[in-house]
Amino acid sequence: MEELRKLSNSSELNKIYRRNGKVGVVTSGGAFNYVMDAVQRNDLNVDVFKVTLTHPFPDELLLEFIKDLDSVAVVEEVDPIMEKEVLSILGRNGIQMAVHGKLDQTLPMIYEYTPNIVMEMLETVLNQKIPKNQPSNSDLSIPERPPTLCPGCPHRSVYYTVKDAVNSMGLNDVIYPTDIGCYTLGITSPYDAADYLLSMGSSIGTSCGFSKATKQNVVCFIGDSTFFHAGIPPLINAVHNKDRFVLVILDNRTTAMTGGQPNPGLPVDGMGWEAPEVSIDAIVEATGVKYLRKINPMNIKKSKETFIEALEFDGVAVVISQHPCMLTKGRRSSKAELEVKQEKCDECAVCLEKLACTAIYKDDEGKVRIDTKLCNGCNVCVQVCPERAIGVKK
Ligand code: SF4
Ligand code: SF4
Repeated sequence: MEELRKLSNSSELNKIYRRNGKVGVVTSGGAFNYVMDAVQRNDLNVDVFKVTLTHPFPDELLLEFIKDLDSVAVVEEVDPIMEKEVLSILGRNGIQMAVHGKLDQTLPMIYEYTPNIVMEMLETVLNQKIPKNQPSNSDLSIPERPPTLCPGCPHRSVYYTVKDAVNSMGLNDVIYPTDIGCYTLGITSPYDAADYLLSMGSSIGTSCGFSKATKQNVVCFIGDSTFFHAGIPPLINAVHNKDRFVLVILDNRTTAMTGGQPNPGLPVDGMGWEAPEVSIDAIVEATGVKYLRKINPMNIKKSKETFIEALEFDGVAVVISQHPCMLTKGRRSSKAELEVKQEKCDECAVCLEKLACTAIYKDDEGKVRIDTKLCNGCNVCVQVCPERAIGVKK
């Protein structure tokens, strides 16, 4: 660490930008861009210290940076880590200087920064008005584009089926803990299957708590990568403490949200080399779970039957939903295209409003259609349509 500290003090990655002001900003990462935008656009007399190698903190460079300054502000995302480093270095060197940031509440402890948040902070520190960014006055009508699961995504089928199972059992007070991954989008309507999200692996640990503290049914969701990363210890706790909830492991054979990296459940490592495949089933069985089922989420009838059984089970019930992510699986290979047979469709909107696949839409005449360019051919809409109105285009 001592060797690295020397490197940090001499590294070209840690840069000082002088404008010969009396106020300096220590910053890092994305926040640096907001600081530089504010300083350059408004021609502010503010020196900037961009710290890229942040640990060990470049203490000597900091002392060099502040030597002609009256005060310093620290602009960093999330927790005030560098701010505490700066305070500690000043303290160790007996230097009296105001340090602004999250700890003195010049910057908010919550939210990610925006240019305007950083400019408001600079306004306070410099005691001068700085014009903020204003929303554009454009009168372009831009449609809302809420984040959504891909057409043919296996998570959509799971959410649709879990909700269908819950409704058919007349359960109306189910708690849905969720975790970190694409499947967090279960929070969106019409699924509404993500009541909260805390941190990696927390869906299972918090389910243990709810199972003990309430009489409500709990159905929690975790992806395969997150399960390997942080889901195993809480599952052991759940079994050992005789908790009662349904755990759905959404095994889509990838780490989809961050771009499709492999996880230990795949026979390939991060370098693309062959690697031993770790079995989720074997891990779950080894914890002593007494109810373990595997489903293909694209089979709606069987999945629903399994979820009903799991909800009735008195203990920890684990359902592994296994189907590859549509992005890694690749687009459909079959040439068969689906369409809505207009003579059969009664516009009940189950496909549009309950399944809510983004490849299904209403045309200008109000007719329900399938956008064949978006459709991935998962056939789930074919199974959920009560009128059997969706089929292969002739
Ligand atoms: S679910 Fe079937 S009947 Fe209902 S709107 Fe969709 S295509 Fe038409
Ligand atoms: S088959 Fe149906 S549910 Fe699947 S992607 Fe196509 S339109 Fe969506």
